[in-house]
Amino acid sequence: MARIFSVVNQKGGVGKTTTSVNLSAALALAGNRTLLIDIDPQCNATGAVGVDPASRHALLGDSPLGESVIQTETPGLSLLPGSRRFQDADVMANSDANATVRLRGHLDSVMDDYDYILIDCPPSAGAMTETALTASTEVMIPIQCEYFAMVGVAQLIGTIKKVIGATNGRLTFGGILLTMYDESLELTREIDEDVRDFFGDIVFENVVPRDVALCEAPSHGQTVFQYAPRSRGAFAYTQLCMEVLQRD
Ligand code: ADP
Ligand code: MG
Repeated sequence: MARIFSVVNQKGGVGKTTTSVNLSAALALAGNRTLLIDIDPQCNATGAVGVDPASRHALLGDSPLGESVIQTETPGLSLLPGSRRFQDADVMANSDANATVRLRGHLDSVMDDYDYILIDCPPSAGAMTETALTASTEVMIPIQCEYFAMVGVAQLIGTIKKVIGATNGRLTFGGILLTMYDESLELTREIDEDVRDFFGDIVFENVVPRDVALCEAPSHGQTVFQYAPRSRGAFAYTQLCMEVLQRD
């Protein structure tokens, strides 16, 4: 049975997509059957692995998910592409109990085909993120090391607790990741201390440094492992991958 991670934070630009793409690539390269699911209508994760968005989002259809899954250039990494279709985004963003049941049903149908499934969520703590959480076994929150890093995280934790309490016994709250880490900055060190004081063990030991390779790779439709395998970013996501594997 797959471990299903929702990668969430209602703030944009904190590293959700970068983490979804490169952590799933690292998991695949380590020999795990991995599926990356893009549910953000911006479709950044889809583009980052060199695939075009779908005309309709497969999660909203009735066909078996497997028919819409695309094998990426990274061995072992499959993608369920996002869709920019306005109506699809709307349906997903206003998802009700039906959407939740449907998404969970779709994911349950591929649970045995993968070891890891990562869901790259849109920047919202709303219904879509809630639906993704309901279908997940784990939640991962990237936090950017900047001022106001923690703003909104309390609200997000409220949503997570609600899902854990109300709808889904299988979701566990593990995995806060510090991104765009610059250890030469006093600010980064302060945020690191605050976040670890507050959240304790669920913060990953490994952090992701600021690295230009991580922001250049998507414009080439490549993961960091294809674009710059010897970069600090590639190293960081390999280390994070090992930590995720160990936390099983
Ligand atoms: P989100 O999905 O949360 O909106 P992204 O992963 O798209 O965030 O990251 C926002 C921007 O920051 C992107 O341009 C991305 O390339 C860049 N970025 C993300 N992580 C890093 C990093 N560790 N170092 C440098 N740039 C990064
Ligand atoms: Mg994103």
